[in-house]
Amino acid sequence: MTTQATPTAAEREQVLRLELVKAGRELDRRGWVMGTSGNLSARLDGPEFVITASGRHKGRLTVDDFVVPGRAGERNRPSAETSIHEAIYRSVPAAQAILHAHTVATTAASLLTPKRPDPAVLDIPDLEMIKGFDVWDAEDGISLLVLPNFPDVSAIARMLEPMLADLEAPTFLIYGHGGTVWGRSVEEAQNRLEVLDFLCDVALRAM
Ligand SMILES: [Zn+2]
Repeated sequence: MTTQATPTAAEREQVLRLELVKAGRELDRRGWVMGTSGNLSARLDGPEFVITASGRHKGRLTVDDFVVPGRAGERNRPSAETSIHEAIYRSVPAAQAILHAHTVATTAASLLTPKRPDPAVLDIPDLEMIKGFDVWDAEDGISLLVLPNFPDVSAIARMLEPMLADLEAPTFLIYGHGGTVWGRSVEEAQNRLEVLDFLCDVALRAM
């Protein structure tokens, strides 16, 4: 009988870094993380997570282009949008990975809502693809949360956190900025980002 050694925390972290590197390449291939935009993260043990370092191109990441916020000895600066990831990991236990990208469709669809310093919603009709969010009772469609794009990102995170429990889907948009999704794995988060982009694209074309 063979016994499989349980991976150590360091080994698990390395696997997640590699998955995020691959996800970054895929997002870049789709043109969803132009410049150095976007950020990718995965949960480690408990509230800890690993996130892309600030200023890195997501199509050319290496396993060293990440930060574990709060870990002693970190040399990289975390992404400017780290506070949003923190809020989601703190309030959504099922979230194991979070992806944020500036896709054209998510950015443009957010502009269908009024520009205000308050949360807004983008109504998505009853499209089959909503099931890609694990939402099975969407006969009337779903409402996607659209938050204002405050220059202080932590203000966006503070507005988001109390709303997380009531979201109709594991995602939200920021006005004129892009979309964020989370899932139970990096792969699921990637799939959901594709779903989000599709729904936003249809919303734009159907308007
Ligand atoms: Zn962004």
